[in-house]
Amino acid sequence: MRIDLISIFPEFFDVLDLSLIGKAQRDELLTVHRHQLRDFSFDKHRSVDDTPTGGGAGMVMKPEPWALALEHVLTQRETPTAAEPPILIIPTPAGEVLTQRTAQQLAQAEHLVFAPGRFEGIDQRLMDWAPEHFQVRPMSIGDYVLNGGESAVVVMVEAITRLIPGVLGNPESLAEESHAHGLLEYPVYTKPARWRGLDVPEILLSGDHAKIAAWRAQQQDLRTRKLRPDLWARHVVAQEQNLA
Ligand code: SAM
Repeated sequence: MRIDLISIFPEFFDVLDLSLIGKAQRDELLTVHRHQLRDFSFDKHRSVDDTPTGGGAGMVMKPEPWALALEHVLTQRETPTAAEPPILIIPTPAGEVLTQRTAQQLAQAEHLVFAPGRFEGIDQRLMDWAPEHFQVRPMSIGDYVLNGGESAVVVMVEAITRLIPGVLGNPESLAEESHAHGLLEYPVYTKPARWRGLDVPEILLSGDHAKIAAWRAQQQDLRTRKLRPDLWARHVVAQEQNLA
């Protein structure tokens, strides 16, 4: 997978060189390219924002530096004429909220481009222009507002790239984790068996793999019902539809 990140703070993405995503880059499972948005602004101050037309608070990102940066990314592709246009993810609190299911779909993409905004966001005309060149996905990481989209990009890139085959050391850890199949994961324990007067559930020490699997499945149901009744309700409906 190729990932392009455009920002006025490209150094924000240095964290992606750490841990599993850093290793995935060194293993050539993905390449991450950072671009300074100001390199595509040619006035004296390399400005990327201006006052909002119609008045109001704050500043708005100008569309032209974004369009030039995105056109530059298009020229950088190994196969610039590829039939599938890259997916352009525009982080915005007004976007579709990222879920595990969406992350699973995006993990199969060949090329993702991220355009995180700052200030009051990006001039709407950029969103109107971009579908000519990209598959545009306005996306949110939750119903709250951040100062800028860079931290949302880090969250999205981490959620997506850990699902690329080979990125996680043990792919089995993906199978039962929270949200993989609409439920939360069961509680997990390690050694020692007794810690500060608290015991690991006895069944986990039994060595009986069938019983452990049944206990864990039951715990997934119990935890989801208790902690996320909204997810549980959706899970019940999905199960009923599968039986019908
Ligand atoms: N004025 C905008 C609004 O009310 O919708 C908020 C702009 S916010 C201060 C600046 C940038 O942060 C946005 O352009 C977006 O890229 C990013 N951002 C803020 N909250 C976000 C969220 N929940 N998910 C994804 N990106 C977010």
